Amino acid sequence: MTYLAVSISGKTTNEVRGQISRACEAGAEMLELRLDYLLGLEAETARGLVGEAKGRGLPVIATCRDKKEGGANDYPAKLRCAVLEAAAEAGADYIDCEYANFNNETKQRLCAALKARPGCKLILSAHQFEGRFHDLTVLYDCILAVHDSAIPKLVYTANHINDCFEAFDLLREKETDAIVLCMGKGGMISRILAKKLGGLVSFASVDETAATAPGQVTVEQMKGLFRWDHIDAETELYGLVGCPVGHSMSPANFNACFERLGMNALYLPLLVEGENGQLNEFLNGISIRDRLGFRGLSVTIPHKTAALDYVEHKGEYADPLAVRIGASNTLKVGFGGIITAYNTDYVGAMEALTRAMKIDKHDLHGYRVAVVGAGGAARAVIAGLADVGAHITIYNRTEKKARQLAGEFKCRHERLEKAGELEADIIINCTSIGMHPHTNTSPVPKTALREGMVVFDTVYNPMRTLLLEEAEAAGAMCISGVEMFIHQALAQYRIFTGREPEAGLEDFMREIVVRRLR
Ligand code: NAP
Repeated sequence: MTYLAVSISGKTTNEVRGQISRACEAGAEMLELRLDYLLGLEAETARGLVGEAKGRGLPVIATCRDKKEGGANDYPAKLRCAVLEAAAEAGADYIDCEYANFNNETKQRLCAALKARPGCKLILSAHQFEGRFHDLTVLYDCILAVHDSAIPKLVYTANHINDCFEAFDLLREKETDAIVLCMGKGGMISRILAKKLGGLVSFASVDETAATAPGQVTVEQMKGLFRWDHIDAETELYGLVGCPVGHSMSPANFNACFERLGMNALYLPLLVEGENGQLNEFLNGISIRDRLGFRGLSVTIPHKTAALDYVEHKGEYADPLAVRIGASNTLKVGFGGIITAYNTDYVGAMEALTRAMKIDKHDLHGYRVAVVGAGGAARAVIAGLADVGAHITIYNRTEKKARQLAGEFKCRHERLEKAGELEADIIINCTSIGMHPHTNTSPVPKTALREGMVVFDTVYNPMRTLLLEEAEAAGAMCISGVEMFIHQALAQYRIFTGREPEAGLEDFMREIVVRRLR
């Protein structure tokens, strides 16, 4: 079993009591009393609080962290040791001492306390805040060498998501109970995957203000958004690869669908910072670790082109549509770790447009369409429109990109400043202009918006962008990026699972996304 422990970091006994109550209500499976957070700490206070926490019927870890290893207050070693002794006596299930401080005297005192309370186990912990440990496996072995019944707890900062793979490997290979977690935003997924990989404990906070380590997720998010209760060794993994990923609706959308369909699957935000090199390392890391269980990835800014390059470079299958668009927003991870590439932005955009206009896609032939932007989304939109013979003009900030794209798809291009004078039947925004938090900007001046036009904004957060508000005021028909989002997600669902979306799934996705955006 992997426990979801909530770290209790109150400075006063009342704060501790309040946090314990909230943790229990939120579904904590274990309580970690971070006694080093208490002001004016005494061994007797610790004894009383451990007793109270035990009264909640949950296992309790008592921790009194040394300041050098991330403790909140600089309490002397003797007091910290006395606090752990008192905690063991009061019924704590685990006491946590730093491996670096487990010297002869501490060892003697804590082993005596543990002998008197055989139900209490010792966690020996090590922390590295700057980055990875010199050698994680050696450290794990060293901890067991000093105390063979100890539970090694190894926590380090993942400066990049790729730093997590080492932790995952150790968790898979370990032969004893162990806690291996990565801190920082790059390490966030290690806190969720600890359950799939059989770590003894993962830690969550009661709320964002009470986090005791960088990258800690709240217990509510763990239990709700990240489906903690459903994760086991067989859980299939999916995720959104990009930078940033925090704003995306994809984790909420896919996880709600998995829940509804009773699928043993989890969708994670996968923050892959950096450029092609880091993306390649991440995809290789997943590909060679088939047992991690990744089965599919959505890809967003800035990795759509590099994701396609990765698959083509490996000589694996890239769907001809993705190759023609020059970008992939969907990767399928097959058994054996083989990664193949697809593009669902194309179908998402075309579905959104034609459904709203109540026409077949071939009816778009001859329409004058102004596409603003020349990035990954614009490529997919332009490919779709070019296929049916629409008259496309690209408006983009960087003219070179517009020229290149216009050359590829045999259409016209103009400078973005000319957007105020555009003459079109349909305007499609494929830039991030107007997206949260910069919601008071629009890519197209009001002067270009007219009655009877169709204005489609691929930006979906907010649902009603300034462009759509101004288009509506001018009497245009408006299409929100939410519709494209839903249709590209349905197409991803088909690729990921190999099955047709179940009846009602489209409306369900719309409900989830709209509710969250509101
Ligand atoms: P991308 O490849 O990074 O392209 C971004 C585009 O936006 C480029 O054309 C860029 O112009 C332009 N741009 C960005 N900031 C600008 C600014 N301040 N002023 C002028 N132009 C600016 O990104 P993408 O993948 O195409 O995504 C673009 C947008 O499409 C996203 O923000 C997202 O909201 C939307 N999208 C929606 C869906 C959906 O399902 N609804 C799916 C995919 C994308 P330069 O070439 O000059 O840099």
